[in-house]
Amino acid sequence: MEFWSAKAKALSPYTPGEQPRIEGLVKLNTNESPLPPSPRALKAMREAANDSLRLYPAPESDALRETLAAYHGLRPENVFVGNGSDEVLAHAFLALLKHEKPLLFPDVTYSFYPVWAQLYDIAYETVPLDENMCVRIDDYRRNRAGAIVLANPNAPTGVAISRGDIARMLEQHADIPVVVDEAYVDFGGETAIPLISDNPNLIVVRTFSKSRALAGLRVGYALGQSRLIEALSRVKNSFNSYPLNRIAVAGAVAAVEDEAYFQHSLKQIVTERANATARLSELGFDILPSSANFIFARHKTAKGAELARALRERAVLVRHFNAPRIEDFLRITIGAAEQTAKLVTALDAILN
Ligand SMILES: *Cc1c(COP(=O)(O)O)cnc(C)c1O
Repeated sequence: MEFWSAKAKALSPYTPGEQPRIEGLVKLNTNESPLPPSPRALKAMREAANDSLRLYPAPESDALRETLAAYHGLRPENVFVGNGSDEVLAHAFLALLKHEKPLLFPDVTYSFYPVWAQLYDIAYETVPLDENMCVRIDDYRRNRAGAIVLANPNAPTGVAISRGDIARMLEQHADIPVVVDEAYVDFGGETAIPLISDNPNLIVVRTFSKSRALAGLRVGYALGQSRLIEALSRVKNSFNSYPLNRIAVAGAVAAVEDEAYFQHSLKQIVTERANATARLSELGFDILPSSANFIFARHKTAKGAELARALRERAVLVRHFNAPRIEDFLRITIGAAEQTAKLVTALDAILN
């Protein structure tokens, strides 16, 4: 402590879901994909492990920005890429969300948002979700709002709002930046990307970690009008010129090009989500309507913390948040069918 800056002393960092090395663990705590990444992406990465690694990568990751622009019907100047969407979001907090008036986000949402706000000394206020744990966009019409960040679908609830709602929010807040974190949108949400052309205040953030099964690669990106993207680049180029390595760019490009594999993977997760939801309902859980690759479930009688602990003893890991309004919920990643079966067997033993 004695050598720490006052800033380092004051931080309360984000705690990611644990990554223990336990044989046979059913790991449903960090929303990773149970499926392997695209075989084409793996092949491209093996091929990229060559002599060229002695050279720095392209600082703006042009190949990946061009591929993503074409995929989303935008131009490369509308795309910013980073080392995971956590890094992209961190840059957005400093580049776009720090203002004199407070940043707004839901009281129940991705728990990294208050951490970045603290890191960058950003004033913020939380806006309560409604009684159905849903974002109610009219509640964001406050006198003092400097910026807004929303995850859609929201985390850890999995609940999504419509593109129409996002459009209405952008209209109501045309004078401040709005960041929409679409980490889970591929699993059933409506993307805000078509709203970019008409809304100079919108940034959409995406990740390869969930729907593209590449959490280990660390690739995320932001889409928006070029003026906003430029602000992100200014922060990035004041922090790390080369956030994406050559292998990551090769893998990410090939993953985007493998659309058939991507669509097939999404179908499997969505099917298994329906199965897991049905099984857990039978066991007495109430489950929020999920548009994500996880479900947020509360048992009618058993306490969340106790269930999480009892599951861990049976080598099943789920995420439990000891936070107001959600302490009785478990956030359970959708795994493969055999993982759902093991989860259900364990819960059955615990509850009966
Ligand atoms: C997982 C997640 C991220 C971060 O993803 P990375 O790209 O792996 O850094 C961002 N936002 C939300 C809401 C997430 O759940």
